[in-house]
Amino acid sequence: MRVMGIETSCDETAVSVIEAPAGTQPVGRILSNTVYSQLAEHRRFGGVVPEIAARAHLERIDGLVAQALDEAGVGLADLDGIAATGGPGLIGGVMVGVMTAKALAFAHDKPFIAVNHLEGHALSVRLTEPVAFPYLLLLVSGGHCQLLTVRGPGDFTRLGTTIDDAAGECFDKTAKLLGLGFPGGPAVEKAAVGGDPKRFALPRPMWRKPGCDFSFSGLKTAVRQTGEKLPAGDRQAVADLCASFQRTVGDVFADRCTNALGLAPSATLVVAGGVAANVYLRGRLEEVAASHGATLVAPPVRLCTDNGAMIAWAGAERLRLGQVDTLDFRPRPRWPLDPAAANRV
Ligand code: ATP
Ligand code: MG
Ligand code: FE
Repeated sequence: MRVMGIETSCDETAVSVIEAPAGTQPVGRILSNTVYSQLAEHRRFGGVVPEIAARAHLERIDGLVAQALDEAGVGLADLDGIAATGGPGLIGGVMVGVMTAKALAFAHDKPFIAVNHLEGHALSVRLTEPVAFPYLLLLVSGGHCQLLTVRGPGDFTRLGTTIDDAAGECFDKTAKLLGLGFPGGPAVEKAAVGGDPKRFALPRPMWRKPGCDFSFSGLKTAVRQTGEKLPAGDRQAVADLCASFQRTVGDVFADRCTNALGLAPSATLVVAGGVAANVYLRGRLEEVAASHGATLVAPPVRLCTDNGAMIAWAGAERLRLGQVDTLDFRPRPRWPLDPAAANRV
């Protein structure tokens, strides 16, 4: 089964064609995976500007669809379905992707699948790794930080979430404060190389508290206060602060995942979302999993941040179960994976 996936929920315009095996089997093949990052357009504003993003998606999307088909060596007629991120995200961008996918699906008489962007991250590991349902998932991205049990498409139980900022947001703020640029995650990771992770003792919000919730605002404030006191131009101090920050996030992730593995034992711990690209954090999670007799599985680094392949894969997982959408689907700026849990907060 061949599925196209379109991702336009933030600042990456991405289109991919993948091939999925029959039934509910994991591991597909990526036939093409094109990404146009709008970084240059947003950089001087130090963050993503929604209007600029929507316009840039509109300008690029047709070209990327053509390129993704070309690189995959297939035509629209060869596809079994067309998936697009239907939310959550910046609504102007989501509308561009959804309208494009609907138009192609209508014109070529193909099923249309509206994919929850978070479900894209959540299931992406199965595109490349033979991971069976159910599994425990740490979803850590630019806008989310959650622990979930994943049983299948549309079937999630949320064990915990952040009560304030997301982990990726905390990386981005740290980078901005230290003048490391945008996006922050990769910049902090790079700056932390050669840094002393023990030099600064930073607060570890929620650490050793019961449950699986997260909090990052106190850590963010502490990084700001520490950063402001550093002597100008002291690169070693910046490296030390980045390394200390990363270790603190690692401590929090490890502590929260330990609780989650206690509450919802699982043979597999999966980490996904942009922050899952961080090699140090992956290492920390590997240790936690191993100490519970579980295995950590993560998507390859390039599939952690937003991409079309994860949307195509989640679309295929749904299509194989007959879960398709009609052309009157309306983009959803908010779309929780576990609606019952989301209603409780
Ligand atoms: P969401 O998926 O919650 O809607 P998003 O799509 O903007 O948000 P992603 O693309 O999944 O987020 O991830 C981007 C985030 O991941 C950014 O906050 C970025 O700083 C962070 N990130 C990317 N690479 C790394 C890294 N190597 N280390 C830590 N954080 C990283
Ligand atoms: Mg992005
Ligand atoms: Fe994302």
